[in-house]
Amino acid sequence: MVSSPEHLSPVVSFGELLIDFVPSTNGLHLSDVPTFHRVAGGAPANVACAISRLGGRARMISKVGQDAFGDFLHQTLANEGVDVTQTLLRTPDVRTGLAFVSLRADGERDFLFYRSPAADMMIRAEEVTEAMVADASIFHFGSVSLVSEPSRQATRSAVARAHKCGALISYDPNVRLNLWPDAIGARHLILDLMEHAHVVKLSEEEVVFLTGEENISLGVQTILAHGPRVVVVTLGSRGCRLFTAQRDVFVPGFAVQAIDATGAGDGFVGGLLYRIATASVTPQTVTSYFDDDTLSVATLQFANAVGALATTRRGAIPALPTLSEVQTLLDRPNTADEKGMP
Ligand code: ADP
Repeated sequence: MVSSPEHLSPVVSFGELLIDFVPSTNGLHLSDVPTFHRVAGGAPANVACAISRLGGRARMISKVGQDAFGDFLHQTLANEGVDVTQTLLRTPDVRTGLAFVSLRADGERDFLFYRSPAADMMIRAEEVTEAMVADASIFHFGSVSLVSEPSRQATRSAVARAHKCGALISYDPNVRLNLWPDAIGARHLILDLMEHAHVVKLSEEEVVFLTGEENISLGVQTILAHGPRVVVVTLGSRGCRLFTAQRDVFVPGFAVQAIDATGAGDGFVGGLLYRIATASVTPQTVTSYFDDDTLSVATLQFANAVGALATTRRGAIPALPTLSEVQTLLDRPNTADEKGMP
């Protein structure tokens, strides 16, 4: 069991927590995969584990079934040092969500979801109490919990509560269009939450989808106009770009032997939030922190290093690095530095 540093205020993650069934053999169509093994999944849960693995304090708010898979998820997060004592709700009425995944030979991933419904979709606004978020330094959420009610209203209510309690709000929409009934509704609902977020993480594809703008800089300006102070766009192996009202900065990634990109984005967000939680960044100081060249570049290099290391091992949670592994990568001369601006 990893122990949490009790003096830190926790980063509180909210959202889906489910079982990913990953194939024992890669490169097959989902219909051809003979055997799978179970791993804990859900982007906000991966972020919580990333923070804990680095030595930060993390809490997870979600709901799982009163079933064996719910037990497994509870145990997995607890073993990772994530606080789930009061905040991982259980329901006897609905089963824990499942997703069967395959990595095809062309590198694309196939998903088959068993979520009609799943327990995490059934979390209700009144179940997310003030006590769960009152001491949060950062509140982190995504958009999968916005797909349907009652978790949509629970998400909105939890964000509003955390905001009122003074937490920095972090939003990684992690758009999963195959979970939404239609793309236009998804875009509208995902954008709707931007005004409540201080820090937003997006991929280039998500910027294009959400804004209809192929030029990333112009698209991000549209996102910033919704209210976030900071937008970080991840660029896979190339690294990331940081945008504030004042700045557009490219921070190159690290050259590593990547074998599985699962969880790289969540590791990146975990690294980013770990650093800003450790630096006690607040809603009042987030703009000046990210407008400071030294602080922001060091923070994003750290996040790039966590994301890069997460690709060097299989799976999401098992692949997350420790602080000393990140430090070793940061101290190494980086051959990816020569790569140009995207
Ligand atoms: P997402 O999964 O959210 O689309 P990315 O694939 O862009 O996120 O990965 C997130 C971050 O992880 C990147 O910004 C980068 O820092 C790091 N990363 C991802 N893939 C690689 C890779 N092949 N080599 C090095 N770093 C990587």
